Amino acid sequence: MSDSLPTAIRAICDQFENDPHRMMDIARAVQHRFNCVSPAAMDIIAAALDVARVEVESFVSFYTFLSEEPTGDIVIRLCNDIVDRFHGGDEVAAAFAQELGIQPGQTTSDLRISLAYTACIGMSDQAPAALVNDVVVTELSTDKARRIVRDLKEHRNPQRLVEKLGDGNNTHPLVQSMVRNCIRREGPVIFAPFESGKALRKALSMSPAEIIRNIKTSRLRGRGGAGFPTGIKWEFTRAAPGRTRYIICNADEGEPGTFKDRVILTERPDLLFEGMTIGGYALGGSEGIVYLRGEYAYLQRFLEEVLHQRRAAGLLGKNIAGKEGFDFDIRIQMGAGAYICGAETALINSCEGRRGDPRNRPPFPAQEGYLGQPTCVNNVETLCCVARIVERGAAFFAQLGTQASTGTKLLSISGDCKQPGVYEVPFGISLREVLQMAGAPCDAAVQVGGPSGDQMVGADAYDRAICYDDLATGGAIVVFAQERDLLEVVDSYMEFFVDESCGYCTPCRVGNVLLKKCIEKVIAGRATPTDIEQMRRLCSTIKSTSRCGLGQTSPNPILTTLKNFPALYERQLAKTDNGLQPGFNLENARSEASRIVGRAPVRQ
Ligand code: SF4
Repeated sequence: MSDSLPTAIRAICDQFENDPHRMMDIARAVQHRFNCVSPAAMDIIAAALDVARVEVESFVSFYTFLSEEPTGDIVIRLCNDIVDRFHGGDEVAAAFAQELGIQPGQTTSDLRISLAYTACIGMSDQAPAALVNDVVVTELSTDKARRIVRDLKEHRNPQRLVEKLGDGNNTHPLVQSMVRNCIRREGPVIFAPFESGKALRKALSMSPAEIIRNIKTSRLRGRGGAGFPTGIKWEFTRAAPGRTRYIICNADEGEPGTFKDRVILTERPDLLFEGMTIGGYALGGSEGIVYLRGEYAYLQRFLEEVLHQRRAAGLLGKNIAGKEGFDFDIRIQMGAGAYICGAETALINSCEGRRGDPRNRPPFPAQEGYLGQPTCVNNVETLCCVARIVERGAAFFAQLGTQASTGTKLLSISGDCKQPGVYEVPFGISLREVLQMAGAPCDAAVQVGGPSGDQMVGADAYDRAICYDDLATGGAIVVFAQERDLLEVVDSYMEFFVDESCGYCTPCRVGNVLLKKCIEKVIAGRATPTDIEQMRRLCSTIKSTSRCGLGQTSPNPILTTLKNFPALYERQLAKTDNGLQPGFNLENARSEASRIVGRAPVRQ
């Protein structure tokens, strides 16, 4: 007989020592077991963890992959990123809906299958794609969608959908995924061969100060997009007073069009874990956390196994690599579908079992981060660079790229190009060269840095350089051929920001909705030059008054297209600008008013 709800949930809470900081693991486990975190379950969790019930409810309501209402045993999450939609995603969604007899957001009447949309799942190079529970299905077509539904109805086993395995470690027994790595160009930093333990042993022969000096000499800058010098970040964290220090790897790449960390996690986990362990030694910490986005749950067991092997090899645990007194370990913290958790303070909150709301800064994480202790949050690629710098020396790294942007950069290239995938290129390479490698059309518009990047550029920018001081990118390059409607792209990106705003501050929560309405008005051909001016002012207000990076960058798709593609807007403008609203229909408004007050329309 199965356990009663209270018994089962208390057992889950016990498994995580009734620690409120493990709320994410507990909520995920409850969701997995019962297809929801019901109000009754919230009561039991709150009591077991000794926290206010509202905290549990607020937590569950925050994350896309958690739900208060029951979902089906199987949840199909369709990626609704614009790249997927331009590659047939809408038709695929319609096929799923028709075959299931439900719309996105609904569950079949037998409670077996739910259908939902979700933001970019990190598979833009093999779009359209979807998650079926934790199983990734890629390169979908309408026929494939129908076959998937029939198979799920008959066998109820998502893993059966993986008919052909991808390449590399996607074939590993603990991965077994159809995802392909799509590594198109290997460089000397990330994709060069790597001997596990070599960099770490070298690091342990140095002092922590020496390691940090090396990282500074290499002029490594954070690969997440902001480009803050890593050595300085480490120096601040090490210098901050605290009981201990933490190093957190941000593996929550959620920027639409970004998927390069997925490939690192699949093919270079040792390089990443080695970089984290070196970080632990240099910062004087004993624990590292990899915050892995919920969309990459299919890699979790594999990554746990790599960690296990490193412990067995003495590269994690106590007295690492024979270094007396150096104890360090790494745990994986799963996310649950929230783009904002890619922001470092939101990520720290999420690791602590809270909603992923960004924090006010200061204090900065280097002073007061995870559990109130000095914490360094680094990107996946950044930590891999650290390991390579220690292994091959700062000079090796510094001579790659440019003076201000040293090393190589991984680019995730997708959209309208013949060779979508991951490219490791030296910083300073021109956009033209990158596009040629990827087989993009010679007149395409290119979104550099994803929606939050501030560059949607045309062919006149192809000779600009990919680097922090020119075309900066955390990794995403999305190509849009001439025939694509860029206003549709902008509208889609604004929808993304509206959905992903945490809602804490008004300019972001309300302002992005207003911006989305403005864009809809432009698309409908009802906007006037006055509307465009108002839209510019609103963009400026949102950027300058929002609390975190999401709000500070969300107007970028509008601003950058206004600047680089003004004709897009000009040709959509309504002909009149005499102070009257071109889209206002007096007759309709009078009828609606009459309906509301319950009177017959006044006849003229
Ligand atoms: Fe939340 Fe947006 Fe404010 Fe950031 S800017 S804190 S995402 S509401």
